[in-house]
Amino acid sequence: MDGLLLESDALKPLYRDLEALYESAKTCTKCRLASTRTNFVFGEGNPSAKLVVIGEAPGADEDAQGRPFVGRSGQLLDKILVAVGFRREDVFICNILKCRPPQNRNPLQDEIACCLPWLQRQLDLIEPRMLLLLGRVAANTLLGNTLSLGAMRGKILGWNRFECVVTYHPAALLRNPNWKRGCWEDVQLMRRHYDALEGTLNQP
Ligand code: URA
Repeated sequence: MDGLLLESDALKPLYRDLEALYESAKTCTKCRLASTRTNFVFGEGNPSAKLVVIGEAPGADEDAQGRPFVGRSGQLLDKILVAVGFRREDVFICNILKCRPPQNRNPLQDEIACCLPWLQRQLDLIEPRMLLLLGRVAANTLLGNTLSLGAMRGKILGWNRFECVVTYHPAALLRNPNWKRGCWEDVQLMRRHYDALEGTLNQP
């Protein structure tokens, strides 16, 4: 399955860079979450990262600070990245939804549909090679399927021009530490593939 193809190129407004995109996006009122958010959580990191990490939606800490993955899940994510040799600032970190759903409920389909064009434009500007998709919501949304996490883990999956690795959401790992070993295997696979892609990029 091809997954979501978001909008035709002809319809894309041109954004000079991520800063310009952020300026347009931060006052978004396309869905109901605009009325309950404290901050629009655009995402942060290296604007030319070769790896983009994508979670589900901001939680309370992220909503309060306007930054992705800064609460307990974020601290664990930082450790996971460091374990395979990435600093937070090497990659770009963002979410499917840019605004917090009340009580951290699951994103609704219409909220996802409103918000995905922002992510699409971020990816257009960053042009990563790989995506690390954290949890089932991010993976099902982008890969355009309803598969279980187990069915998506442990392999490289193509979506549009990106190569994706799916793993557990850090919040799930905090609830169930037994899954950490599987996550470790996933991110090692991701790192090996990233290095192989970089090798092909850097060849004379
Ligand atoms: N969970 C997410 O999916 N994203 C965040 O930014 C924080 C927690």
